[in-house]
Amino acid sequence: MTCYLPDCWEEVASRAKTASRVIIFLDYDGTLSPVASTPELALLPPKIGEVLRKLALRNNFEVGIISGRSLAEIKALIGLEGLAYAGNHGLEIECRKEGFVHPTATKAASLLKELYSQLVERLAGINGIILENKQFSLSVHYRLVAKSEVKKVKALFREVVEASKKQGKVRVTEGKKVIEVRPPVDWDKGKAIEWLLSHYRAENSLVIFAGDDVTDEDGFKFVNQINGISIRVGEASALTCADYYVHFPEELCLWLEKLVEPGSAP
Ligand SMILES: [Mg+2]
Repeated sequence: MTCYLPDCWEEVASRAKTASRVIIFLDYDGTLSPVASTPELALLPPKIGEVLRKLALRNNFEVGIISGRSLAEIKALIGLEGLAYAGNHGLEIECRKEGFVHPTATKAASLLKELYSQLVERLAGINGIILENKQFSLSVHYRLVAKSEVKKVKALFREVVEASKKQGKVRVTEGKKVIEVRPPVDWDKGKAIEWLLSHYRAENSLVIFAGDDVTDEDGFKFVNQINGISIRVGEASALTCADYYVHFPEELCLWLEKLVEPGSAP
């Protein structure tokens, strides 16, 4: 059962208090920034940025952002030094000046570019469609597309991508009103967290991960395995692996702030 975080707060707070180090990983869209109608509108609320800065400044805390956006984009959106950043669901990572790009992602980049231009061409007539080329993955956002057109979008998408998918050259995943094409690699947010932890030499740390979408479930699973704390942003759901939930990004940040400032009242 997923527990509403404020109702189980004592348990979480006491674990954070007794841990020698706390490592917090956070998704961006829908977790720190409310889901917006277009990706450009999903800016980081200043109050949440302030909480992230406070957390990262604490000696025994580390903060990492793990997003489906590109590494360059997520770094620019957060704009804080001293954090780890993982883009493209962890296929590209930057932590303490060290970088990582998954080799399969590098190899897939030219095919992804080709699929992107084909999709731009095929989906050109669809009102409200937004395509993103993130170098190591690509996204088709249909949040603003008329309901009656969504079927057509999915059919055109399949026409372009299906052959490469069948040949095992790419993977297709779905999120909230978005379809993504990714390199054919067994790599996800959970693996990215594992990579980052080995970099932090994080034995005996308490690891927290918060996310809101299907692709975050891999992160929840991994964090649960290492006895960490998994938090889903959104309504309570029987389908999630997360141990806790909050309703909104602002609520998540108020509680995270309490980890460094126990007196602050949400
Ligand atoms: Mg998200």
